[in-house]
Amino acid sequence: MHPQVKKLLELQKVDQEIASLTKDIDSLPVEEQKRRRRLEELERTLAERRTQVQKTDLDARALDKAVRSSDEAIKKLNERLNTVRNNAEYQATLFQIEAVRKDRDVTQEEGLKLLEAVEALRPGVAEAEAAVAAERQVFEGFLAEAEKLRSSRAGAIAAVRERRKALAEGVPLDLLGEYEGLFKTRDRQAIAEVVDRYCQGCYNRITPNDEARVRGSSSVVRCGSCQRLLYYPG
Ligand SMILES: [Zn+2]
Repeated sequence: MHPQVKKLLELQKVDQEIASLTKDIDSLPVEEQKRRRRLEELERTLAERRTQVQKTDLDARALDKAVRSSDEAIKKLNERLNTVRNNAEYQATLFQIEAVRKDRDVTQEEGLKLLEAVEALRPGVAEAEAAVAAERQVFEGFLAEAEKLRSSRAGAIAAVRERRKALAEGVPLDLLGEYEGLFKTRDRQAIAEVVDRYCQGCYNRITPNDEARVRGSSSVVRCGSCQRLLYYPG
């Protein structure tokens, strides 16, 4: 086997090891972001519902205040009835009282409706709170698991990366670059064995000339179909 191809074959084993060690870890950031967005969405819903309850409650309080000040006005008008000097004034005051009372009743009705609305909104808030709490627990569990996975793999990944560094040393840079490109685009198999003149990367037959060159081991031979670097074992 060509000495550089032999080195690259060992490098490929290490790279496959790295790939399987990091595969699930590599997907963690995307997964985390997806889960974080879901949680934020639920938190937004909760905040909106809380705001709506607060706003409706404030409106109801404002109406209640208006009702009380109408009551105060009616009380004063009733007192005035005792001090009016003639019937016309008396009638006018009665009329005024009636008008204020009408307004007051309408306002009170509106206020009660708002209070009912507040009560009707509360279950939605409780539901959103429960959803946020549940999702947060799931999210925190995910973060803890992710961290556990990362730290448990950290040592193994660092060790195998050290091995890779040592193996890559001495391989000419252009050949190393070619290998790395193939490793990425050829499904983590840049170096392929030849069996009975067939490339085991793409299962196409190689030419007799290429076969002789692979056997000769004096040059790096590429598969004419898939460009993988070829070798005969032994
Ligand atoms: Zn091939």
